[in-house]
Amino acid sequence: MNTDQNTDLSASLDAARRDYAALLERKLKLDLTRGKPSARQLDLSNEILALPGDRYKSADGTDCRNYGGPQGLPELREIFGELLDVPAGQLLALGNSSLTLMHDTVVHALLGVLPGARRRWADEERIAFLCPVPGYDRHFDICERFGIEMIPVPMTPDGPDMAEVERLVSADAGIKGIWCVPKYSNPDGTTYSDETTRRLAAMPAAAPDFRIFWDNAYAVHHLTDEEVQVADILAACAQAGNPDRVFVYGSTSKITLGGAGVAFFGSSEANVKWLLGHRGKQTIGPDKINQLAHVMFLRDADGVRAQMRGHRELIQPKFDAVRRIFAERLDGLATWSEPKGGYFITLTVPDGCAKEVVRKAAEAGIALTPAGSTHPYKDDPRDNVIRIAPTFPDVAELEQAIEGVATCVRLVGYEKLASA
Ligand code: PMP
Repeated sequence: MNTDQNTDLSASLDAARRDYAALLERKLKLDLTRGKPSARQLDLSNEILALPGDRYKSADGTDCRNYGGPQGLPELREIFGELLDVPAGQLLALGNSSLTLMHDTVVHALLGVLPGARRRWADEERIAFLCPVPGYDRHFDICERFGIEMIPVPMTPDGPDMAEVERLVSADAGIKGIWCVPKYSNPDGTTYSDETTRRLAAMPAAAPDFRIFWDNAYAVHHLTDEEVQVADILAACAQAGNPDRVFVYGSTSKITLGGAGVAFFGSSEANVKWLLGHRGKQTIGPDKINQLAHVMFLRDADGVRAQMRGHRELIQPKFDAVRRIFAERLDGLATWSEPKGGYFITLTVPDGCAKEVVRKAAEAGIALTPAGSTHPYKDDPRDNVIRIAPTFPDVAELEQAIEGVATCVRLVGYEKLASA
């Protein structure tokens, strides 16, 4: 470093220290940890609270107050079949959480024999899942809970590094699954290209019971006019001669009510039959009254699209604010994703700085998702990824929090440069 650069750096570091001291003085209490809808977003669905009113019969005359109907209401499956690219006959409308369905399908694969499997996963010597990174911490938590080994695979702008995925899956029969968030992924907003989808569907797998866990959590959650589409994975698997390879998940958690929506599971006929068989021991049927309320509220796929435009109006300004503040304050020091949908922004700070930024932000009263949680075993080897969840606070609070985060990144980043 020459003398001019040294002077610049030491001036920047002094300024960052002053900004951080001022930030501490403000005694903020702000939370950017989880991707929750804001109260105003939830207000968009308040009508549901009064539905289905005194109606209790579904379109085919089923009494929704009673037990039964393990597949869920056909009219709701029609609506979401169109949006999730699953024929309604192969789509189940179930409880209030797709995460529960992912958890339970893993458990059923451990304790029951999947179509195409030689034995239960619990009886295998070793089970591993591929985990594209950065990824969704709750996927990794499911693996950790059941002792499933996690193998990180890097993400590219087109989805997981497919050469690496193909190499691993074709050679290792212990690899039984891969976690995929194909559209506007959590946390970096990536959408899988058609080629990635095709290769996932068609690649040779050493394990006959290999499954793609296709968590399409953000299928209709657009932030731009582009309304990005992903290829139809179920059709691609069938075409490639691997009809049972994919489990598709989705939910209305971020369409209607986070805690009181409806979750979906779609797959081949054999897999659907397999899951229904296991669920038959678990439950005498889903909450059809909530499903009826959802049908009455959303009406059809266009009704869902209209509802999502309401969400976009509320959250797009928040994503814009984050991008603007980062561009103003972090240019040259960090990079960030510019998602076209979904719920998150990934902030990439200089190597070795993420934990320290999150710690400094916490000291200043700004709670961020713990550094490392975007990686298996909470281990981000470069310690440079921070997940930002802008949806929950209002715009003014969010701006304060992001300004604060930027201050922490500048301080930690300049300290690192100064010590280099
Ligand atoms: N999958 C992904 C990728 C998510 O980001 C989330 C919520 N943060 C979920 C699943 C949870 O979905 P649900 O509310 O349907 O359980």
